[in-house]
Order: sequence, then structure tokens, then C-alpha cells
Amino acid sequence: VSKDEPATGVKKITRLGLEASKDTDLPEWYSQVITKAEMIEYYDISGCYILRPWSFGIWDIIREFLSAHFKRLGVKDCYFPIFVSKAALEREKTHIADFAPEVAWVTHSGSSELAEHIAVRPTSETVMYPAYAKWIQSHRDLPLKLNQWNNVVRWEFKQPQPFIRTREFLWQEGHTAYLMKQEADEEVLIILDLYARVYEELLAIPVIRGRKTEKEKFAGGDYTTTVEAYVPANGRAVQGATSHHLGQNFAKMFEIIYDDPETQEKKYVYQNSWGITTRTIGVMILVHGDDRGLVLPPRVATVQAIIIPCGITASSTKEERKNLIDSCKILVEDLCKAGIRAEGDYRDNYSPGWKFNHWELKGVPVRVELGPKDLAKGEIVAVVRFTGEKTTYKRAAAPDDISALLIKIHDEMLAKATTERDSRLSMVSSWDEFTSALERKHILLVPFCGETPCEDNIKNDSARLEEDNATEVKAPAMGAKSLCIPFEQPRTLTPADKCIHPKCSNVPKFFTLFGRSY
Ligand code: AMP
Repeated sequence: VSKDEPATGVKKITRLGLEASKDTDLPEWYSQVITKAEMIEYYDISGCYILRPWSFGIWDIIREFLSAHFKRLGVKDCYFPIFVSKAALEREKTHIADFAPEVAWVTHSGSSELAEHIAVRPTSETVMYPAYAKWIQSHRDLPLKLNQWNNVVRWEFKQPQPFIRTREFLWQEGHTAYLMKQEADEEVLIILDLYARVYEELLAIPVIRGRKTEKEKFAGGDYTTTVEAYVPANGRAVQGATSHHLGQNFAKMFEIIYDDPETQEKKYVYQNSWGITTRTIGVMILVHGDDRGLVLPPRVATVQAIIIPCGITASSTKEERKNLIDSCKILVEDLCKAGIRAEGDYRDNYSPGWKFNHWELKGVPVRVELGPKDLAKGEIVAVVRFTGEKTTYKRAAAPDDISALLIKIHDEMLAKATTERDSRLSMVSSWDEFTSALERKHILLVPFCGETPCEDNIKNDSARLEEDNATEVKAPAMGAKSLCIPFEQPRTLTPADKCIHPKCSNVPKFFTLFGRSY
């Protein structure tokens, strides 16, 4: 079994593939998928990874989608420095209290210690808002809507995981300031909806939209909205992206003030901040990948259809070979003209079988096989990565048929992920049901009082020791966290509903989604 060895004309079994299975060893499976599919190269600093073109291309597509929508909303791109002074970072106390343990500091230049240590941004509220205070003087300066596509650094203590939890990550952060709270409130949801669309319309992953509890909200903000995704393989939820309303808290700390034209009074602006990161790519891999490798949702695949010339044998003439390659190239061109991201794999040092495995591992949604017999019949054969389904199409209709096929694949991937998620989403009302459903990898909708001490109890009392399959060592399984208070509540609460924690005597305020989470 060779890993990356080209076939040499002699028929041999080459298994590029994964040795770990998603069901039995998810961490090892994940690590193999991301490296063998050429998404990630490991790096010698823990929590930092190299994003190779195969993953960066996905980020590019997400960026293009969001960027177009941000522009329509009047949001302008800009760039602020990566460094922040200690004084600015510490201006908003609750904010810094939460981020302080994860902030990386520049303390030296060469061998001399800096008189003032400089922080690397974990997020840019404190970098940007001193400038906002200068730029906003009059109500005419509002709204101010800026965004930057950048990196941030959070020196996380939790076990890093490529894409999902990294110490440096790429994101966009939008920061807006408004005259009226209502306008800011509206924007929070408009942005959250765009984030939900990234998951549902691009990545084929269903998300639950909701508000974070007081315990889980963004430090220093008024409220946080979130889209929550679910990973069936380990039953963990993952925070997909967040859109925060900061109220006037930061405005007060940074003196972002305008003159009210009617009352001549000084007033504080209302602010929002919102971000989505390269975590999106990790969620996509975890939700859709299988034991043969990545399964890319068509809309984010940088190659949507890979054309592989087939059926050339040792007895084929040079002319037959040339004829086949030329036909493949024309097919690629026709597919590209129809808006499909198509490429041909014409390498002659690899066999078609090796190429099938290679592109399967890399998750390309559709493989098109074209051989002399197909040419003669005016047909092509398309194989869907997601289902393995093989269909013959008329060559003349290929651009239309493959376009339609890509849409169908997206819809089916989303439907499958939704069915899987829904079968593990339960509504429970007793603590016993809560803990037992959690063990069955469910996420849970429960009546909850919303109080932080109660949420702490839920988390502590639902943690347990679990057998780790790989090591047979007992490892602590984390307790359940609140994921969100879904906007769409399953029903109204009645006096018969009790808060989920057995020791809680508070009146439940809403149904809240709980689960083990990344
Ligand atoms: P926050 O600014 O804390 O609201 O974070 C914005 C979003 O970034 C979160 O909703 C997560 O989806 C994502 N995120 C947070 N921490 C990380 C990390 N270490 N690596 C990648 N993505 C992250």
C-alpha cells in the first residue's frame, strides 16, 4: 500500500486512502483527512496550521459570498493594525477580563524589552474604537459600517484542532455604529441570517439560530446571537458564527459620541460587532466527510467536476490518446462556460484508478469519466462523490445536466445533514432524560431559567468519565453547555414546566438548547 506513489503503467493497488474510520476514531480520521486531502500542513507551533490552496479556496468562496452582501448593506472594507496597546485593550473591563488569559503579547524587540508591552488583537473592538471616537462627531457621521478580513490570535488553552479551534485564525469582523438602537438590532439579525446562509446555502449544513445566554454572551456586549451547527459523529454542537449587539457599553468606554441635532445633547452611539471564521471549513469536513475522505458541498468546491480520461490501453495509438485528451479539454471548456468549476486530470504518470481515489479523497463533488467508447456513443459517465451514484449523460446536454446535478447534490447533502441532526435533537423535561439523551449524542431543548449559577450546575452535573476507545483510558467528558435560546421556540411554556436542573426552583424563561460542544 503506497501513500502517494504514482502508478507506473503496471497495474497495482494503490491506496491513497484513509486508514482511520470516522466512526471509531474521529480525531485520527480528521487528522488524516485534512492532511491527505491537502487541506492542512502541520506547523511547528501548536495551534497554528498552514492552509493549503484546497482549503483556502473554500475560504475564498465564503469571502466572496459575504463580501458581496456586505457591500450591498453599505459596509466598507478597511484594515486596522494587528497590535493593540495595553491601555486601549484594557479600556472595557468586562471585555478584557474574558479575553485576558488568551492574549498574546509582544514583549521584546530583538533582545531588548519593550518599555510598553504590545498585545496582538484577539478581536478588534479595542483597536478600532479609539478611531471611531475621532471619526464620529455628528449624527451625519452615522451609521458607520466597517469590516475587515484579517487574522486574530487567541492563545487558547483548550486542545487546538485545525480550523475548529486554532490560535491564529482568519475571519471577517464587522464593526458598526448607529444613531438608533433599533437600527443596530435589525442589523444584528440581517448579519446572522447571512451567516446562516453560509452554512445552509454554501456548506449544506443546517444551523439553529438563537441568542446566547448571559453566561455565554460576548464579554462587554449587550447580547449575542449565534448560529449553532451539529456534528453527528461525536454528538457535539459547534458555534458557527456570532453577531453581537454591544449596546452603548463600548461607546461609553471609548467616548464615541455625537451631538443630538434636536436636543444639542451629547449622545452615545449603539454598536454591533460580528464575525465568522475559518472554523466553517472544519465544520464542513466533520459533517460531510466519510471513510473515503472529504465530501465537498458543490458550492464551495474549487473543483466541482473533475474530468478523467479513461480507457487508454497499451495498444491505443498516439492519435487515439490525443483525440481523447482533446475531447476532455473541450468538455472542460463547455462546462466552464456553463459556470461549472471544471478541470481535467491529464497526468500520464497516474492511472485512472489512482486518479479516482485521489479526487475522491479530495472530495470533488462530480467525477466525469470519458473514454473512447463514450466518445463514440456521444455520452459521458458522471459519478457523484456524495452517493457513489453513476449516471450516463448525453455529451451534448452535459453542461446543463451537470449544473442540475450539482444543485441536486447540494440539496441532498443538506437534507441528509438535517435529518441526522433532527434525529438527535430532543425535547426533554427531566434530568434523567437529559443526561441519558446526552450520552446518546443528542442536543437537547429544555425549559431553563437563564440564570448563570443554574447553568454552571447543569454543566458540572452532566460531566462524567467516559471510556476513550483508542486508549481505554477514562477521560472526562465535558458537561453540557447552553448553545442558544432558539428564536424559534418549540411551544410556549406553561406553569407546569420546571427548569431542567433538579435543584433549581426558578421559573423557566424559555426553551434553551444544550449540548456537549466544541
Ligand atoms: P467571538 O468574537 O468570540 O464571538 O468569535 C466569533 C466566532 O469565531 C465564534 O462564533 C466561533 O465560531 C469562531 N471562533 C472562536 N474561537 C475560534 C478559534 N480559536 N478558532 C477558530 N474559530 C473560532
